[in-house]
Amino acid sequence: MKKALAFAAALALMAGAASAQQYPTKPITVIVPFAAGGPTDVIARIVGESMSKTLGQQLVIENIAGAGGTTGITRGKEAVNDGYTIMMGHMGTHGAAPALYPNIRYNPVTDFEPIGMAAGTPIVIVARKDFPASNLKEFADRLKAGQDKLNEANAGVGSVSHTTCTLLHVQLGTKPTRVPYTGTGPVLNDLVGGKVDYACDQIVNLVTQIQAGAIRAYAIATPTRSPALPDVPTTKEAGMPEYEVSAWNALFAPKGTPAPIVARLNDALSKALDDANSRKRLLDLGGVLPEGNERTSAWLGTFVAAEVDRWGKTIRAAR
Ligand code: ASP
Repeated sequence: MKKALAFAAALALMAGAASAQQYPTKPITVIVPFAAGGPTDVIARIVGESMSKTLGQQLVIENIAGAGGTTGITRGKEAVNDGYTIMMGHMGTHGAAPALYPNIRYNPVTDFEPIGMAAGTPIVIVARKDFPASNLKEFADRLKAGQDKLNEANAGVGSVSHTTCTLLHVQLGTKPTRVPYTGTGPVLNDLVGGKVDYACDQIVNLVTQIQAGAIRAYAIATPTRSPALPDVPTTKEAGMPEYEVSAWNALFAPKGTPAPIVARLNDALSKALDDANSRKRLLDLGGVLPEGNERTSAWLGTFVAAEVDRWGKTIRAAR
């Protein structure tokens, strides 16, 4: 009996190893926890296209929006951990959300296998193009004066846009009307259409429309300007040095996904970041690409733990 059990266990192990070796034999689903067209979706599609070539199987994007990205990530956590379902998380879903959702059904640190960082994404403060303020200072004054008459658009509680604009509001002491969307793709449409007043969002969503003059950019919340938006001043230059914040997007697999599979996905992601075409597309949109050690799964794991800690403290202090 013991022997039979040992034999069965050995067989199961071999089968696991063999399937990891053959992986992938069918398309891989990438859960994007926001609406199509936004930064998380765009980054997933850019790296996904290149990863599909490397892996010889299609990476298929599935947009599962809701609750600031936590609905899609909960679904991803519960998916079969065989490498055929992975997800694109970000600073909100894997950093800020646990402090904002007391009943959240996943732990960003313990429920996932980190695959790798896809891109850092500076935050830019943007408004509809006819917003009556010509610089950040005037914008801040308008916010303070307008209070609840102004509409700030975001991707839901716990999202990057929501969290980073919360910080801005705390610093300015304002309480505008907050309008939740399923992602900042639709937020951008309504900003361009003049239906909402302003937003704080990840740069990759905004560069094209800022360059086209379809929306107005007041400042980028990083210590230095972005090469993708050389004319947009930093918050420090524009007189609000205390407002410095950046976000990121990274790939995760459900806990227990076999290590050789995670390694293959990490390698394909790294190749995507080196691929001339996807690299250029990400850089043109203002993405900050991880290099060297920052590309490893282990680095992402440590980084996520630090982000949960950092955002937990920031959010508690803001209450
Ligand atoms: N940038 C969004 C956020 O605010 C989400 C999205 O990618 O659409 O979290």
